[in-house]
Amino acid sequence: MVGVDLGIKTLAVLSTGQEFPNPRHSGGALGKVRQLSRTVSRRVGPYDNATKTHRVPSNRWRRAVAALGKAQGRVADQRKDGLHKLTTTLAKEYGTVVIEDLFAAGMLKNHRLARHIADASFGEFRRQLEYKTVWNGGRTVVVDRWFCSSKTCSGCGAVKTKLDLSVRTYVCTECGLVLDRDLNAARNLAARGEAMVAGSGPETVNGRGGVGVLALPVKRQPGTAQAGNTGPVQPQGRTAVRELTKVH
Ligand SMILES: [Zn+2]
Repeated sequence: MVGVDLGIKTLAVLSTGQEFPNPRHSGGALGKVRQLSRTVSRRVGPYDNATKTHRVPSNRWRRAVAALGKAQGRVADQRKDGLHKLTTTLAKEYGTVVIEDLFAAGMLKNHRLARHIADASFGEFRRQLEYKTVWNGGRTVVVDRWFCSSKTCSGCGAVKTKLDLSVRTYVCTECGLVLDRDLNAARNLAARGEAMVAGSGPETVNGRGGVGVLALPVKRQPGTAQAGNTGPVQPQGRTAVRELTKVH
């Protein structure tokens, strides 16, 4: 079992301490994108900001836009390549891979510009991981979105109320643990996954496509309608049973 914390500066940190560097930081392709987008904005484009009118763009602008597109494509390719290497390694080397929910990862850890890019790669990361772990006879476990993997101490379980993104080292005021922020998060994910699997947690994703999520037992609030008579909830319950029988 391994917990995986996805990041921006580092592609991923595993609960074992292993790190996967982000390819876009090593290649320098991102710098090229920044440089080219500045070039594009200096040239005569289809919109004149001074007069707020449209105009015929220059050929130099068109060429710069084409070059920018090419550079962006290279960055995307590098990221894709890095993701595939990461998910292949994880699926081959570990039986159970524990990851965060997309919402938690996207909302709490990523900042501004990088966010939508990171969110997109997170979805892709999860998709690849789910089918590759199935290929290798393993599974992917997604922890619930409200689990604070970053703010929780992996040593004693204390939870901080606030932890700024700029703080890269987790320092626990309760037990004195000092640990890299991402490694702390990855260890928390591993422990959480372990607990979920041990308790055969309903959130466990058994392989592909979040089938396990669909198979969630339908939770009914006390005092609401009787089982089998829950109105809008019912179709979902039926789907869950069908999916379950299909998989097992
Ligand atoms: Zn602690």
